[in-house]
Amino acid sequence: MNIQVVGVVGAGVMGVGVAQNLAQTGHQVVLVDISEDILDKAKQEIRNNIRFQSFFKKSDSTETPQDILNKIEFSTNFKFLENADFIVENVTEKWDIKKQVYPLLDSICPADSVFAANTSAIPITRIASVTKRPDKVIGMHFMNPVPMKPMVEVIRGYHTSDETIETGKKFLAQMGKECILVNDSPGFVSNRVLMLTINEAVFLLQDQVATVEDIDKIFKGCFGHKMGPLETADLIGLDTILFSIEVLYENFNDSKYRPCPLLKKMVDAGLHGKKSGKGFYAYQ
Ligand code: NAD
Repeated sequence: MNIQVVGVVGAGVMGVGVAQNLAQTGHQVVLVDISEDILDKAKQEIRNNIRFQSFFKKSDSTETPQDILNKIEFSTNFKFLENADFIVENVTEKWDIKKQVYPLLDSICPADSVFAANTSAIPITRIASVTKRPDKVIGMHFMNPVPMKPMVEVIRGYHTSDETIETGKKFLAQMGKECILVNDSPGFVSNRVLMLTINEAVFLLQDQVATVEDIDKIFKGCFGHKMGPLETADLIGLDTILFSIEVLYENFNDSKYRPCPLLKKMVDAGLHGKKSGKGFYAYQ
């Protein structure tokens, strides 16, 4: 299967990165979200990211930011996905939202196109259950920021076929990514560990054991991590962290995944991290 036209659903933090990465690796992209405002912001963000990237990354490409943007069609109309060979879904980490998107995609996209779910924690088998093509649903847990991260956690759902796994690997290779294949389980490998770590770091802050800066410094200075858990939470988005922890809590029925009240309070207060301008740290 030759993948040329890719539908990217959801133009938030991840959808923007996936669409940019795809356009920069020669794909035609249709980027869909629910409002023109969100799509305008996404366009601006991609333009800024490409400019910013060019300062840090040497490239032989003569493409201008506009050339790259021209490969992306921005739309609020799902009908534009009717010729997509491959879909990457990046909508909000809420089951009630995701479960409505897939039947719609099923009714519009070609019968043989693959649906890749970019989710932090929702089981791929559950997502596949609301489609008519469970064998063609695969988990693709991209890392943030997508164009800068070389590795993707790929998840095999209960019904995912070997052919879909091979198509998924080929697709990621076309994007310049390597992948690690794991079996399906809520949060997969990465977020079953990371979300608990972040949640516990918020409990430490709530219990006044240390400041935001000192919690992060311990991970950077003592463990050699590039970022601390609270900086990481700001980058991911505190709403996405809360929704992911709630998915883990609901799926495992285990109290170790109970969300920290301070995390809930910050999300209610609109402190969603870098994307909203304020989280544990302030951004301009
Ligand atoms: P986000 O909140 O930044 O963006 C979600 C986007 O989905 C929004 O623009 C929203 O308008 C859109 N959306 C909601 N309902 C829609 C619908 N019915 N149709 C089309 N678009 C719709 O979230 P995000 O951080 O980009 O996360 C997206 C997905 O990727 C989530 O499942 C998340 O768990 C996962 N993920 C996030 C990260 C991260 O670091 N933020 C990393 C890996 C995976």
